[in-house]
Amino acid sequence: MSITATNTLESINPATGDVVGRVPITPVSAIAEVVAKARIAQTAWNDLGLDGRLALMQPIAERLNEEAQTIGKLITAEMGKSTAEGQGESMYGASKFASELSSAFEAFQPEEIDDEHTRSILYRDALGVSVAITPWNFPMLMPQQCILPSLMAGNCVVFKPSEETPLVGQAYADVLNEFLPKDVLQVVHGADDQGKAPVESDINRLAFTGSREVGAKIFTACGPELKRVVLELGGKDALIVLEDANLESAANFAVQNSFRNSGQVCVSTERIYVEDSIADEFENLVLEKTKEWKQGDPTDASVKIGPMVSNTQRDIVLAQLEQALKDGAKLRCGGGTHENYIEPTVLTGCSHDMQIMHDETFGPICCIQRFSGDAEAVSLANETPYGLGGAVYGETQHAMDVARKLTPGMVGINKACGGAEGTPWVGACQSGYGYHSGRDGHRQFTQVRIMSMPITEAKAKY
Ligand code: NAD
Repeated sequence: MSITATNTLESINPATGDVVGRVPITPVSAIAEVVAKARIAQTAWNDLGLDGRLALMQPIAERLNEEAQTIGKLITAEMGKSTAEGQGESMYGASKFASELSSAFEAFQPEEIDDEHTRSILYRDALGVSVAITPWNFPMLMPQQCILPSLMAGNCVVFKPSEETPLVGQAYADVLNEFLPKDVLQVVHGADDQGKAPVESDINRLAFTGSREVGAKIFTACGPELKRVVLELGGKDALIVLEDANLESAANFAVQNSFRNSGQVCVSTERIYVEDSIADEFENLVLEKTKEWKQGDPTDASVKIGPMVSNTQRDIVLAQLEQALKDGAKLRCGGGTHENYIEPTVLTGCSHDMQIMHDETFGPICCIQRFSGDAEAVSLANETPYGLGGAVYGETQHAMDVARKLTPGMVGINKACGGAEGTPWVGACQSGYGYHSGRDGHRQFTQVRIMSMPITEAKAKY
């Protein structure tokens, strides 16, 4: 991304350096007005009721399907994700739209709760104006998780996509806006200042997905007026490989989850702890499988790993790598860099004396440390302020026993951490505050209100 003298945001292709497209930056001084328009539009939007909003939004799913290939190409062009992953994100997002709408529709239904004396009806009302501030690493899916349930609940949304991926954000909002009434969903473009301005405006809900550092700033800014926040933040996910693990599948997972999207995934495997007795065999398998990760132009369908999103992100990763090598980690493969690319890299002999085992790396570096005994694995894995995801590979009951002692919000047993359809996406500890998706996640975009009457009156009337 670059900002021109005419206040235009240029989206730069990280693989080629070419300009992918441009959007006008929203002046900070105009953002209060954007929020005011959203507030005016919200009354009529809310008055449509759940049935009305569902009927109006259902056809969006088909249009997103029609646009999925184009949006997928744009994802690859703007942030360097491989073609398979770019298309995968847009197709998955489009295919989930209809089922997410239905699940939000069901989650927002009123509930009747009676006791001997009282009938209560629990309503889930709209909050008002909701803001979605999102990152670049899943530039369609992250906005969808914040925008779709918020709109279904009857809120109007002000959406600020990442400055690295403004075109995907705009393309997504344009499809929705073919169906939505005016000002129900508005987009503001820019970087930090355009993120701060809506936070400081007259809003009711803020759904932020991004780094822990920016999440903490937003939390502070929302404090004085107790503005509602949902923060989905960074992680430092551990993979524990137990003695009784299927090493072939553990190594497949280790490599896939360290390198996909160049390691730029919030639930990337950033730390691997392997039991001493099986460590040589596991490390050799990881090294062998890393060779399969062809790197290059992400528009080439055979390429699995493209560039880093930006020079800035590349430099953060390289600085951590350089420091880890100085601190004694062994470089077993990769480590090379050219332009925006970092080769898939495997480090062994890592330890908790190294920064790379503590700070979020967000790059294609697979870091392996050995342990002896479950208690040490649990203690190492939990030694972090983060708590997003994690995985344990081992015999099912053994792996489950270890997993239940871990602090993250989502832990996979012999699989990635994401839960079944309908479960929320949860960051524990400093990886999140509130959460989204699934029934409970959708409900975070509502205000609960209780209406109560004497049970006798209620029974006479209904
Ligand atoms: P980031 O925190 O730098 O930026 C995220 C968004 O916040 C961008 O749109 C940015 O313009 C905006 N912003 C920056 N400063 C702001 C401020 N002071 N006030 C308001 N908005 C501001 O994150 P990023 O580099 O875009 O994304 C990578 C991070 O996102 C990683 O830490 C990753 O783990 C995290 N992430 C988390 C999840 C999850 O589900 N928990 C999912 C995807 C990404």
